Amino acid sequence: MTIHDPTEIPRLLPGSELTNFPPPDRWDDWEEYDAKAWPERVKHNVRLVPTTCFNCESACGLLAVIDKETGKVRRFEGNPAHPGSRGRNCAKGPATINQMYDPERILHPLRRSGPRGSGQWEQVTWDEALDDIAGRMRTAIQEDRHDEIMYHVGRPGEDGFMDRTLKAWGVDGHNSHTNICSSGARVGYAMWMQHDRPSADFANAQFILLLSAHLETGHYFNPHAQRIMEGKQAGAKLAVIDPRLSNTASMADIWVSSYPGTEAALLLAVARELLDRDAVDHDFMKRWVNWEQTLRERHPDRPVTYESFVALLRETYDGYTIDWAAEEAGVTPDKIVAIADGIQRAGHRFASHTWRSAGSGNLGGWQVARCLWFLHVLTGSVGTEGGTSPNSWNKFKPQHWNTPPPHDKWSELLWPPEYPFAHHEMSFLFPYLLQDGRGKVDVYFTRVYNPVWTNPDGFSWIEALTDEDKVGLHVALTPTWSETAWYADYVLPMGVGSERHDTHSYETHAGQWLGFRQPVLRVAGEREGKTFDRTYEANPGEVWEETEFWIDLSWRIDPDGSLGIKQWFASPNDPDRPVSVDEYYGWMFENSVPGLPEKAAAEGLTPLEYMRKYGAVEVARDVYEVHETPVEFDEIGVDGLARKGGTVTGVGFDDGARRGFGSPSKKLEWWSQTMAEWGWQDEAIPTYLKTHVYWRDLDTDAGERILLPIFRLPTLIHTRSGNAKYLYEISHGHPLWVNPADADALGIDTGQMVRITTDSGHFVMRAWRTEGIRPGVVAASHHLGRWRLSDDMGNERWSSALVDITNLGDHRWRLRQKKGIEPFTSDDPDSERIWWRDAGVNQNLAFPPHPDPVSGMHAWHQKVRLGRAEPGDQYGDVVVDTAKSYEIYKQWLELTKPGPGPNGERRPLWLNRPVKPVESAYFV
Ligand code: SF4
Repeated sequence: MTIHDPTEIPRLLPGSELTNFPPPDRWDDWEEYDAKAWPERVKHNVRLVPTTCFNCESACGLLAVIDKETGKVRRFEGNPAHPGSRGRNCAKGPATINQMYDPERILHPLRRSGPRGSGQWEQVTWDEALDDIAGRMRTAIQEDRHDEIMYHVGRPGEDGFMDRTLKAWGVDGHNSHTNICSSGARVGYAMWMQHDRPSADFANAQFILLLSAHLETGHYFNPHAQRIMEGKQAGAKLAVIDPRLSNTASMADIWVSSYPGTEAALLLAVARELLDRDAVDHDFMKRWVNWEQTLRERHPDRPVTYESFVALLRETYDGYTIDWAAEEAGVTPDKIVAIADGIQRAGHRFASHTWRSAGSGNLGGWQVARCLWFLHVLTGSVGTEGGTSPNSWNKFKPQHWNTPPPHDKWSELLWPPEYPFAHHEMSFLFPYLLQDGRGKVDVYFTRVYNPVWTNPDGFSWIEALTDEDKVGLHVALTPTWSETAWYADYVLPMGVGSERHDTHSYETHAGQWLGFRQPVLRVAGEREGKTFDRTYEANPGEVWEETEFWIDLSWRIDPDGSLGIKQWFASPNDPDRPVSVDEYYGWMFENSVPGLPEKAAAEGLTPLEYMRKYGAVEVARDVYEVHETPVEFDEIGVDGLARKGGTVTGVGFDDGARRGFGSPSKKLEWWSQTMAEWGWQDEAIPTYLKTHVYWRDLDTDAGERILLPIFRLPTLIHTRSGNAKYLYEISHGHPLWVNPADADALGIDTGQMVRITTDSGHFVMRAWRTEGIRPGVVAASHHLGRWRLSDDMGNERWSSALVDITNLGDHRWRLRQKKGIEPFTSDDPDSERIWWRDAGVNQNLAFPPHPDPVSGMHAWHQKVRLGRAEPGDQYGDVVVDTAKSYEIYKQWLELTKPGPGPNGERRPLWLNRPVKPVESAYFV
């Protein structure tokens, strides 16, 4: 194995020198001094067990330091053997220990014993819960009501296991949170190349452009942040486009504080400038852009020559001058010129990223990613060292054991015809689609997902979840209480990151790796010679892990095998019992991870033992220019595609056939024929679309401003850090950022209560005057505002306010805080030392749905009216009219161009979607 920190210094090794990390051959037998006992020298014998952090999507490696005497985890550190995180973590990784030992955590399965949402619960056995849920699912499947089973996931934290499970059930029931998160950026990238996100080689870049907060909280936060800093240390310049002075922007060489929603205009001005300067990689463009198809299909009056295409680009973007874009974006022209200069100088070493932020805030926000990628296409910085690749080149997906074939179903509750391009399921429209009578759900799993709190318009979610005609049985699988679990029929406690098995891999850099999350107390016990049949035997209380839950549940859905489900979960060694995690992951590591069996054999280990020892394996490094990989072919068609045996393998050139990209043409599609064919002719090229919060439409005299509600705090997790006392001690407030110019105009001071009125309601919070936000724009982090409805259950007291929720009638709701955070008595003496009081305000409740007609993304930004709090207003008040939310949903629905498409498809076949069904299911 490779330790990814080259500066190894021994710590407490012979000679008592220090080391960054204990060497792996001593992980089972390490000694360390107790820092708290100083100046006394108290030694502890510890065992180090690797696992993977579950506190964001980065999946950094962790090492659990387990005291051999007490059997308890002393702390979590970074895992130096993990190729993505290389031994480093953010604050949230080590806070896993709070989550394990939280005195408020749910330790036993609970079933409601009163009306749904009444807060009355009884403890039940796992057998009772599993049999009840499985029986209901069996009946639904036997009665061909497959589309009444839905699995709705927030943070997956795994890759492929649930897809496999849903295929085994034959259910089109995968629902994700992507439409409230990242579908804007995904669609922008996908329309170029199918791959729906970038993988920037930050460490080797010379110029980095971020339209997100990657140094602070962004996607693949810690792995990316450390590589951005490496790039900067080697001389790279960093530019950040963000209306808010984020921690990331504060580290930038160039901070561009543009009006929200004008980012695409700015990027296209850079594109025009690069074209003007001829700072274009013509060899790359000529080879890899679909210019011939564009000219033939979209401009048949023009000659089909590359020169004619370049002339077309110049004409198309002629109006995007620097001066025009500067005025449109509200920035000075020199900032745009500086970005163009930086990109020109960097050439192939230009790296960029956009995720959430502009793409997730605006109507038409998906075009921001499309325009950003255009800059890479122009400069040929695609797949190059120091450039930016499609994500899938740097993500390793192993095969899962005994994978079932695709199902043949299509759920219009998840994939409504209005959104054929959505990435992915229209998850946040669920309450409105139910209200429209488009279906119902008999068994609804929420898994590490909290839509009542996280999604826009949570009161509509409460209305849906308390209607048993719409949602028959709600099962909340969760490591912690949540506002949504309160409205469940079963609350089933699942392990935190150190109490479960999962595999995953993400595009953290120009390489590939596979991480293995494992339950550290089970693994430590096994190393001491104990045996466990199931992980819950080693976890606290009766906390299960989901892998084993789904295996056992599936077994009980089909006890006699007559539904064809049981076969996918039977042990390969004994068909009379369910497959074990060792059998499942052992097969994967032996059979589908290149190089792993050899690395393991070199240490005298099996592949599973190797992964249990190190927690991760590097699969490839220095992955560049994958599109140029030669592919086999026996013909090159008139469409330019290379085929072998009738199957498309790549794209043909004079020098052979190459793999290319995932688009229909296998090239980078400046013009998307698919978009044009489905009715989006004008939007089929990188272009600038007007946002729903356009600054020129604001009536500022009437108090209107643009609200940015989606920035993260680096130390909190959406709703899963409520049980992490270290994190809440650091971050427990989120005032509204207001520029002094706006504050003066509206008579607002720091600490003063303000009322923020949206199109469906209002909320009340405190203001903070700061130059860190541009005038005309206000902002509040989305991480706070947790609540509970009972004083001692329903949410952790480290982080939640006690509230009343009142149905005011006629779809009007009010949430009002009764008290903030207070010290409490528990097994953890720290709970009596709580000194913070503010639980924050949930603003999402007052946001009506804004489904973008192309990407399906909820456009989070709000046009709001800002003013001082009114008589009777209390801090934390949220008042909402869900009937207005529904009206607004209908208005946005009018913007869509529903399918089916030209061939009768519900969705273009070439676009990705989770748990893809058989081809015939795509056709109406
Ligand atoms: S960035 Fe932080 S929270 Fe995310 S996986 Fe890494 S250590 Fe965990």
